[in-house]
Amino acid sequence: MSVTVAIVGRPNVGKSTLFNRLVGRKIALVDDTPGVTRDRREAEGRIADLHFRILDTAGYEDKTDGSLEDRMRRQTELAIREADVILFMYDARAGVTPLDERFAQVLRRAGKDVHLIGNKAEGKASDAGLTEGYSLGFGEPVPLSAEHGQGMADLHAIISQAI
Ligand code: GDP
Ligand code: MG
Repeated sequence: MSVTVAIVGRPNVGKSTLFNRLVGRKIALVDDTPGVTRDRREAEGRIADLHFRILDTAGYEDKTDGSLEDRMRRQTELAIREADVILFMYDARAGVTPLDERFAQVLRRAGKDVHLIGNKAEGKASDAGLTEGYSLGFGEPVPLSAEHGQGMADLHAIISQAI
């Protein structure tokens, strides 16, 4: 049986960028506009020898359907239910925001294997934000740069633990 990995977090932290890198194709739409990924996407992901099912989430499916936070929470909860491993991504350059804290609340109740990922961690601009990440309550953030492909060995280690 294949392991299912879900990438969750607020808009614009780089979830779709990581999804595209793991899938190796431009399936998820990446844009500077927060929330342009309208659907949940799933595909087969790969890091070296490791194969898994990967879910990308957005949380902006239908703008007429409930509050923004309701929609995000619903999509996150669906992904949580299906996932064996949850990658909870925040933007280490921006630091921890109130919306990240709301996601953390939802994830704490999930009772699943949650790994905090501090994305955009290339360069020094993320140092303070990586330290701040501890406050979310999931231990030490794993520094990653989805755009530059840094931190993939750590992701490999996280996912292989679940297999
Ligand atoms: P999502 O809304 O969480 O799916 O975020 P996206 O993947 O659409 O990315 C949002 C923005 O962050 C885009 O402009 C990406 O190019 C940028 N981005 C993603 N990963 C990185 C990264 O590792 N470093 C930096 N500096 N920017 C990134
Ligand atoms: Mg996206």
